[in-house]
Amino acid sequence: MAFTKGQLELLKSIFPYDPYPPQTEYMKDVFSIIENNKIGLLEAPSGFGKTSALLTAALSGFPYQTYYYSRTHAQMKQVAQELDRINKKSGNSFSCVVRGSRNQLCLDNDLKKIRDYRVIAEICYSRIKYTRSNKDFFEEFYSKAENTLGENEELFLGKNLYCDSKFGKINIPATIPDNVPLIADIESLKKFCLKNKICPYFLARLLAQSFDVVVGSYKYLFYDNFYQDQIMVLDEAHNIEQLCKEGVSFSLSQSTVNQALDELNEIESSWASELQDFLVNLLMFFKHTEFKDGELLSSSQFLTELDKFGVYLEHLRSFLDDWQIIHNCWNELKKIRKKFILLENLRIVWVYRFLYNFVYSAEESYRGIWSLRGKKNPTIAWFCLDSRVAFDQIRARTPKAIILTSGTLSPQERIANRLGVEEPFAKSYPAIFPEENIQILVLTKGPNGNTLTTSYRERGNQEIIIDYGRTVVKIINNIPNGSVVFFPSYYLMDNMLGLWNKREILNDLNAEIFIESRDSGFNILDLYSEEASKKRTALFAVIRGKLSEGQNFPDEIGRAVIIVGIPYPNVQDPKLQAQREYYERKKKGMGSNWYYDETFNAVNQAIGRAWRHKDDYAMGFLLDYRYRSNLNKLPFWSTKKTSLIEPYTPYSTIEKIIQNFFKARV
Ligand code: SF4
Repeated sequence: MAFTKGQLELLKSIFPYDPYPPQTEYMKDVFSIIENNKIGLLEAPSGFGKTSALLTAALSGFPYQTYYYSRTHAQMKQVAQELDRINKKSGNSFSCVVRGSRNQLCLDNDLKKIRDYRVIAEICYSRIKYTRSNKDFFEEFYSKAENTLGENEELFLGKNLYCDSKFGKINIPATIPDNVPLIADIESLKKFCLKNKICPYFLARLLAQSFDVVVGSYKYLFYDNFYQDQIMVLDEAHNIEQLCKEGVSFSLSQSTVNQALDELNEIESSWASELQDFLVNLLMFFKHTEFKDGELLSSSQFLTELDKFGVYLEHLRSFLDDWQIIHNCWNELKKIRKKFILLENLRIVWVYRFLYNFVYSAEESYRGIWSLRGKKNPTIAWFCLDSRVAFDQIRARTPKAIILTSGTLSPQERIANRLGVEEPFAKSYPAIFPEENIQILVLTKGPNGNTLTTSYRERGNQEIIIDYGRTVVKIINNIPNGSVVFFPSYYLMDNMLGLWNKREILNDLNAEIFIESRDSGFNILDLYSEEASKKRTALFAVIRGKLSEGQNFPDEIGRAVIIVGIPYPNVQDPKLQAQREYYERKKKGMGSNWYYDETFNAVNQAIGRAWRHKDDYAMGFLLDYRYRSNLNKLPFWSTKKTSLIEPYTPYSTIEKIIQNFFKARV
């Protein structure tokens, strides 16, 4: 259906900025995806204004609720802020709620300090009582064996409940209170609820049932089960395949079986003895199986091994058929411990869930992997190899439209194919920032003339590592403010930095250095950012580490992104091998395509961290000769501004290019 002039005017009247042509095109496309019940894969670079454009199109005349999934709290907050801008510009009163966790929203600060969210949930639920009778709500709810909690959003509808907190009664709202903020983000919800003695966590859950835009983290993707006729937006969707696979993968550890056995030992009842025997045998499997660390397992290999320890398939089936016995355990334990226990927190329930998913999942889409975890806690993971399993579940809930959007979503047809989407709407949009603000150099030789590469064969070559060091130093010394250097792995970063230090290469670096370590928290980013905003500073980090995705390096914080080598995933990793083989079995070439897509998705994510708004400018450096034959896999928005530097170009020339780029922008 053609886009009418009236519809275009409507979009423009809602969009909070003067739209650039690519933004208008993006909005029109979102509009048509919704109108035609499609699945869209929309790739637009950072700083494009995707959030505003998406919300504008979704809210321009459609009577559907929008579910917006994102990754970080900052990104979710931004959705609420953009909607606020839309309301201010257009005079509309669109409503939005950000669904936070209890850790973010609970009014009891002591409870929020508990790290394990399951323990918080248990304490929280134990405090919820009926207003009239003061009886425990969940005691009654759970008295029916078929009731399990999940994230049942309608549980509280029409009920008069309160939270029996140490500060007195806090209302659990059954209907939307007056004067609730229209843009209900974490901060405004808390403020409103503190004043009105209402629980913000349960208020957010209530608002999610009717507000125009519901924002939440990806963890809700597999809980929410009411999409019918709703618009689903998955932001930062470059991880969608991984998320889908993880969402339907399961694991079971020896310590969980041990703890489940402890629960049964507490009960000491004859009716529990059969279950006890079953768990003892399962524990014997964990203790004495001869599976090797990292060994890949088919379902029949796992079953055959269980057999050896007296855990037969019929035992598994009869255990899974008897949910009532789990319920009885739960009732007994509550009596013994004299306190409320969240059913989902019982380890016997964890064992049940794992075995249920193992027995009833589509065998051909799964593999098992045995890991010893340093012999301390052997674990079996039953992991999904096919993102379609979860994506089909999402589609089965019949949303009106699904929009996947990200700065890196290429190649779209291959991603769509792996998700099982036929005929998606797929498009990439150009950047709205001027092309002069980007320059990416591909360097294949170091200043000493060595070919730059982190290929497996050359990894130990000290000459190359030293030349990498000299290259990095020469680049950073010409960058004003912050440079972020990404390495393919912690192992390589440690090795390279070790040698650069030993050979005193880093002595020539005129910059303060920060190094990401496996356990460094986000405060290293704060420290680095503070320095980089003032002077030349370098951050050494790892691709697929904490800082290469989801963290932004705008303006002075990221005037250069330098990628050392190509971060191909580790081919020795058994999980990776299983994944590649799985796709290769499906179609020749599909496995290696997936492998390349994974690699360049990571590169493009990392490189895209530096341009965050339309006036931002930065340079990118790709240091490996193998980029030469992979230029077509680099970000589509940078293609025209990517230059392959001829081998043996003097470094003085390269330094001049860098200096000129920044001189033109000062
Ligand atoms: S009901 Fe609300 S305020 Fe009470 S413990 Fe739970 S999250 Fe906290």
